[in-house]
Amino acid sequence: MSATKVITRFPPSPTGFMHIGRARTALFNYIFSKQNKGEMVFRFEDTDTERSKKEFQTDIIESLQWLGISYDTGPFWQSQRTDIYKKYLLKMIDTGFAYVSKEDPTEADKIEGRTRTEVIRFKNPNKIITFTDLIRGEITFDTTDLKDFIIARSVNEPLYHLAVVVDDFEMGTTHIIRGEDGISNTPRQILIQEAIGATRPMYAHLPLILAKDKSKLSGRHGAVSVKEYREKGYLPEALINYLALLGWNPGTEQEIFSLDELIREFKIERINKSGAIFNEEKLQWVNKEYIKKIPLAEQTKLLTQWAPKLDSLDVNTLVKLTPLVFERISTLGEISQMEKDGDFSYLQSTPSYTFDALLWKGKATPEETAGYLSKIIEILCLISEKTFDKNTVKEAIWTYVESVGRGQVLWPMRYALSGLEKSPDPFILTELLGKKETLNRLNYARDILIKK
Ligand code: GLU
Repeated sequence: MSATKVITRFPPSPTGFMHIGRARTALFNYIFSKQNKGEMVFRFEDTDTERSKKEFQTDIIESLQWLGISYDTGPFWQSQRTDIYKKYLLKMIDTGFAYVSKEDPTEADKIEGRTRTEVIRFKNPNKIITFTDLIRGEITFDTTDLKDFIIARSVNEPLYHLAVVVDDFEMGTTHIIRGEDGISNTPRQILIQEAIGATRPMYAHLPLILAKDKSKLSGRHGAVSVKEYREKGYLPEALINYLALLGWNPGTEQEIFSLDELIREFKIERINKSGAIFNEEKLQWVNKEYIKKIPLAEQTKLLTQWAPKLDSLDVNTLVKLTPLVFERISTLGEISQMEKDGDFSYLQSTPSYTFDALLWKGKATPEETAGYLSKIIEILCLISEKTFDKNTVKEAIWTYVESVGRGQVLWPMRYALSGLEKSPDPFILTELLGKKETLNRLNYARDILIKK
C-alpha cells in the first residue's frame, strides 16, 4: 500500500483580522505539510454570513503572503459549496444518520426574524469516542451529552460542523492541526465523519497563546493582528521565527530559525500541551537579530522608507547614518518614531537654540565655552576634507579635550552640531555633517557665545 500523501489545511473563518494565533496555526500546518512532502489546503469557513467579511478575507490572504506562507490548493469558500453539503445532508437523512426535526423557533430565531419550524439534527449514537491527539495523547468523550445536535438549518443551510467534516473528507485532509479550542468540536466532528464514512484524520491541538498575565491573549493586551506587527516594523521572517517558538522548541539552545530550518527541525510531537506565553520583548529581540543581518544597502533603503524625510539627504550621509540608526532599533517602526521625535532634525536643517544650552552643566561661562570651540575649530580646519571622519577628528582633538575636560568641550561641540539634548556623539556628528557644515555650525555657536 502506498503511503497516503499528507494533507493539512488552513481554514479560517473570515470573521476577524489574521491574528497571531491564526498565523501560528497556518505556519504549523504549512511546516508540517512541507516536511512531509505534502500539501496544504486553504479554505474560508464563511458559513456564518453575518459575521464573515470581505475585508477580513483580504487581510488573511495578504498576511499569509507577507509571512511567506503559501498553500497548494484553494482558496475555497464554504459559501460556494452548498450543493456539496446538501448532497451529504440528503444522504444522511436517507440513511437515518440525520433527521428533519420540527420545532418551535428558538429565541435567536425570533430575534433574527426567522419563522422556521424545521432544522436538521444529527442522530447521536450516544457513544464513547476516543481519539489520539499527536500533542496530547488519547482524549475520550462521552457524546451522550451532545444530544442530537443541529447540523443544518435546512439542506441549503449547513452549519459549521457539517461543512468542516465534509470539506476535510472531500479535500483529503490527513492532519488537522488547530488551536486547543478545537478539542471540544472534535467529538461532534468524529461522529459526523463516521456517519458519512470518512476516514478519521490525525489530530494535533495547539496550546493556547496566553498574555503575560496568563489569560488568553486578546485585543485588550495590545497588538494581536499580523497587520499591526507588520505596521510596527517587524520583519516577516522574525514573526515566523517567533511564532514557531510559541509552544514549540527544538530542545536545544537554538532560537533563530529560518523557515527552511523550521521545516527541517520542527517536530509536532515536541509541541507543549500547556499555554504559550506571548512576549513582545522576546519578539523584539528576535526581530533585532534579523534586522542586524540585513545588508547595508537594503538597510539604507528601509531607512528612507520608514523615515521618508531623510530621502532629501545625499547618499553618502545616508550610508553613514544607516548603521547608527540600525544599532539602536529593534523594529523598523522605531525609525519613524525617531523621525517624529526630531532625532534626525540636525541633518535636515541647522539647529536653533539659545547660547545657554551650550554651557556644560550650565556652569562653564560663555567666554570659556567660546574659547573651547575656537580651539576645536582651529584644529579641525587643519584636517583635509578627504580624511575628515570620526576617527581623524577624535584623534586630532583628543589631547586638547582631555586637557580641558571632556564635558566642557564635547558638550558644546555636540550641542552646536545637533541642537539636541541627546544625539550621536560629536565625532559621529562631524562625520555625518562633513567638514564644511561642521565648521559652519561650530562658528555659529562660538559667535553667539561671543555676542551674548
Ligand atoms: N474556522 C475555524 C476558525 O477560524 C477553524 C476550524 C478548524 O480548524 O477546524 O477558527
